[in-house]
Amino acid sequence: MPKAQLQYLTDELNKLRDQKLYQKLRVLEGEQLPVARFDGREVINLSSNNYLGLTTHPKLKARAIEAIERYGVGSGAVRTIAGTMTIHMALEEKIARFKQVEASVVFQSGFAANAGTVAAILGREGVIISDELNHASIIDGCRLSRAEIKVFPHKDVDACEKILKEIAVRPGRKLLITDGVFSMDGDIAPLPELAALAEKFGCIMMLDDAHASGVLGKNGRGTVDHFNLHGRVDIQVGTLSKAIGALGGYVGSTRDTIQFLYHRARPFLFSTSHPPSVAATCLAAFEVLEEEPQLIERLWANTRFFKESLKKLGFNTGMSETPITPVIVGDAALAHEFSRQLFQQGVFAQSIGFPTVPQGKARIRTIVTATHTREELSRALAILESVGKKLRII
Ligand SMILES: *Cc1c(COP(=O)(O)O)cnc(C)c1O
Repeated sequence: MPKAQLQYLTDELNKLRDQKLYQKLRVLEGEQLPVARFDGREVINLSSNNYLGLTTHPKLKARAIEAIERYGVGSGAVRTIAGTMTIHMALEEKIARFKQVEASVVFQSGFAANAGTVAAILGREGVIISDELNHASIIDGCRLSRAEIKVFPHKDVDACEKILKEIAVRPGRKLLITDGVFSMDGDIAPLPELAALAEKFGCIMMLDDAHASGVLGKNGRGTVDHFNLHGRVDIQVGTLSKAIGALGGYVGSTRDTIQFLYHRARPFLFSTSHPPSVAATCLAAFEVLEEEPQLIERLWANTRFFKESLKKLGFNTGMSETPITPVIVGDAALAHEFSRQLFQQGVFAQSIGFPTVPQGKARIRTIVTATHTREELSRALAILESVGKKLRII
């Protein structure tokens, strides 16, 4: 039944259709696997963040089931009322040890961790200095904090320093914030230089390591470990939804910062905590990171093979340094068509256009995992080559 008061939403949607920006959700039938069934078609899956294949790891599944049997399916309350369970505390301790920080707090998602933390620690009088390609959850947190936001061009350390100099005499707290691995380009932040700037100008240094946790550093400890910057990044955010294979986000910092977030981070205060099975799954995942380092080795071996092969075929893979490899084609309509034809031929690589990436930088994004076989990756490359040539991308 049409409703006049909602007609404008239909109009907006039709505009998206006209601009060929309307996207139907692809539906996964079954488990998130390297070869999976989406929309009734079996495809080589280059679109998940399931870096280590943990979404279906037997140990994680067993622990989730065991936790349901012992603790039930829900926590029944927010953390600050009756929803803090022993297993939530155990997970926070595990993460703190893993990240080599004093303490950690777990949020319902990485998005909630970023937005909730930035909004809690800064106020109207603050200034946030942020890389232009930082994740949407950081941007939302910045807006919620009401602090002034100063954006520097992607990875431009000199431009960042210039901003810091300009605001050096200004009162109010300053927060320098960057992603560790950038989600659309797969490049790594210049964290040593940024941490040095933060120290020089007395800013809080905050890092969003969603795509680096479980991927970079010893046993997947992340960007801080990759650059050996332990103790020099004040606040680290990670996700439990990507390499860890389940759902959630966390913040690692000093004990008092974490206690402060217990009191002031709004998603922590006003949204129910994880079901115990999710916490149990994540605990098991951190054990797997330490017990099965070969998973990360395989992830990187696959990454090197796939990235080098794409380059040899003549694709533009931008500045990627990690398992996220974009294939940049420029025009958004061409990227959508590339993705569509790849899917028809058996490869799922999502196309991404403006506003997620800048105009003229449309692309498909590929992510290899530890669980792809060489044969699967080779098959994907052959399909990429054939469709790429047909569309005159290479
Ligand atoms: C995915 C992502 C998040 C959000 O994490 P979720 O756990 O999925 O909410 C935050 N920051 C970055 C850089 C991400 O890529």
